[in-house]
Amino acid sequence: MLSRSIAAALFALTALSGCATNMMERPASAAQTEQRAPVTILVSIDGFREDYLRRGVTPNLAALANDGIEAAMRPSFPTKTFPNHWAIVTGDRPDRNGIVANNMEDAARPDEKFTMASDDPFWWNDVEPIWVTAEKAGVRTATMFWPGSNVPWGGNQDKEWPRAIHGGTRPQDWAQFNQQIGGTQRVNMVLDVLRRPADIRPRFVTLYFDTVDTAGHIKGPDAPETTRAISEVDAHIGALVAGLKAMGQPANLVILADHGMAARSTDRIIALDSIANPADYRVVESGPYASIAAVPGREKALEAALFKATPHMQCWRKSEIPARFHYGTHRRIPAYFCLGETGWEIQPTRPKGEVTGGNHGWDDRAPEMAALFIANGPAFAKRAKTPAGGFANVDVYPLLARLIGVTPRASDGDPAALSGLITR
Ligand code: AMP
Ligand code: ZN
Ligand code: ZN
Repeated sequence: MLSRSIAAALFALTALSGCATNMMERPASAAQTEQRAPVTILVSIDGFREDYLRRGVTPNLAALANDGIEAAMRPSFPTKTFPNHWAIVTGDRPDRNGIVANNMEDAARPDEKFTMASDDPFWWNDVEPIWVTAEKAGVRTATMFWPGSNVPWGGNQDKEWPRAIHGGTRPQDWAQFNQQIGGTQRVNMVLDVLRRPADIRPRFVTLYFDTVDTAGHIKGPDAPETTRAISEVDAHIGALVAGLKAMGQPANLVILADHGMAARSTDRIIALDSIANPADYRVVESGPYASIAAVPGREKALEAALFKATPHMQCWRKSEIPARFHYGTHRRIPAYFCLGETGWEIQPTRPKGEVTGGNHGWDDRAPEMAALFIANGPAFAKRAKTPAGGFANVDVYPLLARLIGVTPRASDGDPAALSGLITR
């Protein structure tokens, strides 16, 4: 029995070495010798607060930061998922990019509401995302999830035949968002499109992870479950880097987050119905901020209630929101806007149960809302400094355009802000 297994092992060894010899003798295939052009990969780790990097559980991100660039990035206001993802790929802040919130209304569509599931181009057509600019310029793109990447941008939805969308441009490879598709599969899908022959291989790719945000919401930013989610996504980044290396694919990686996360609690709730008369208003969105519409004719009464001093909250007419928020001109922003102090939530009424976990949406300058930014790859100057006064996420758009080799639209993003990061 023993001698049989030794014989089998010897056979396997011989077969292996024979195989190795054959491979060495064979001329290298075109794929092996090809000098691959760098691909730009934009990775979003939703809700990855900048300081999560210092929990000691992110060896792969730390290595990329150490060999590249790392900084705290200022999100756009409001610090929500859809407005910020759209700001990063359009270079325009929410007030101008049209995605002013995760949930919206528009007087032009009185019977509809925008939710995170809305893919009617009507909601998205205000400004062109970078993958559309790239596709129009002949640069192939692929998205492994990104808010708005499933929308035929510039198209029109048929009102008579509501699922039909006419015209519009999408990334040549895109996927309908599905939370059930795990991180390993998302990374493998990115690696798979890069394994293609050069003529059908994308040169700009997005990749999106949601689990750090989900854990932060349910358990809070400081919970062990959130730290575990951070470490799991770090392992997926490690798999991405290893996969790229194995296929000899150079990549300029821009890894960032849409916003951070702050803890919330039962004793930091502001109940709107204890401040104003619910007969005077309608709440459009609530949480770290509340956007509010007045019942017609009840504006004066509502203003009197909202504008009297309330601890931990400030309210404005939309046209009077302080300029530093760059928010308040878009028609989709309701007439009144109240912002909670970081950690304080504004709810229509006092919740019955305990309030735990975390949230985001607060002041974009609050340290808790600061977002991850890492850049690594052949185009980047190792450990180059980002602007001392910080930079905004809209500044990433002109950087991406330069990496991809397309002309950016004039936008809220400052092309000079991150130009020092690029070596060539
Ligand atoms: P937020 O409510 O701002 O925390 O939004 C985060 C959530 O947005 C994630 O947990 C995802 O479930 C959801 N999400 C992210 N990307 C998409 C997408 N492309 N389409 C629909 N939902 C998405
Ligand atoms: Zn988010
Ligand atoms: Zn979130």
